[in-house]
Amino acid sequence: MEIWYTEEHTPDVRFSIRVEKQLYSAQSKFQRIDVFESREFGRFLTLDGLMMVTEKDEFIYHDMIVHVPMATNPGIRNVLVIGAGDGGTIRELTRYPYVERVDMVEIDEEVVKACMEYLPQTACSLGDPRVRIRYEDGLKFVRSRHGEYDLIIVDSTDPFGPGEGLFTKEFYGCCYKALREDGILVNQHESAYYAEYADAMARAHRCVKEFFPVCKVYQAHIPTYPSGYWLFGFASKKYDPVKDADADAWQRLGIQTKYYNSALHKGCFAIPNYVKERL
Ligand code: SAM
Repeated sequence: MEIWYTEEHTPDVRFSIRVEKQLYSAQSKFQRIDVFESREFGRFLTLDGLMMVTEKDEFIYHDMIVHVPMATNPGIRNVLVIGAGDGGTIRELTRYPYVERVDMVEIDEEVVKACMEYLPQTACSLGDPRVRIRYEDGLKFVRSRHGEYDLIIVDSTDPFGPGEGLFTKEFYGCCYKALREDGILVNQHESAYYAEYADAMARAHRCVKEFFPVCKVYQAHIPTYPSGYWLFGFASKKYDPVKDADADAWQRLGIQTKYYNSALHKGCFAIPNYVKERL
């Protein structure tokens, strides 16, 4: 008997992975959590039936959400991460010896527990002494923060269910306040290809632009996300991610990466015309 995981990317398009076995399934207070084992992508985590991470392609997403801002400002010491329950973003951030503090605010403790048990590849650094995990809503948390962080990374689910508040104007305004004078905000920014995702992308971009003088998007190829083409938002009070990126300083750190490099850092901000028009 064959078992397939199938996700509807649009009402007319489906994406499927053959499953060897289901390792975990639970309904938390916030969402349904599943972990599967597959031959092609290794283990993978889904929330409410939507793909979050696979062992095979998670390096692309986590390299891009972390190393792009970190290479733009080598002065980043205090970081706020919102969401990120699988731990991949924390794993990449804690590779920087000079990062002093990482506050991770994840709404669902059950996701973290499941990933610690079944996805050690991403969850391996959640115990780093610089990381403090709080289990609460990211929007609620940022409301009371002022000028504390050099970088905020929003590693969230899509703009419905628990993640909805993390795509609002109020949230981006609170992030602006929570950042220091040269702060950077990076968020997972949906995709430009299918209409539903493109609408979410355009809405988020419009809201971020109202607060931040520098507001760009950058792209990566992520095979298991809808259309395989995904965007990240880069907003900043001061730094331009292309002009100000310090490639030499980043390379001196000797961080080995499987996807990110300094040439790609510049290239990923070169956006296709159809995406530019949509923004
Ligand atoms: N890489 C993934 C993607 O884009 O598909 C995101 C990974 S991570 C698993 C997303 C996390 O965001 C989930 O664990 C979810 O519980 C968390 N999350 C959703 N809404 C949140 C909120 N309002 N505050 C904090 N965390 C939230």
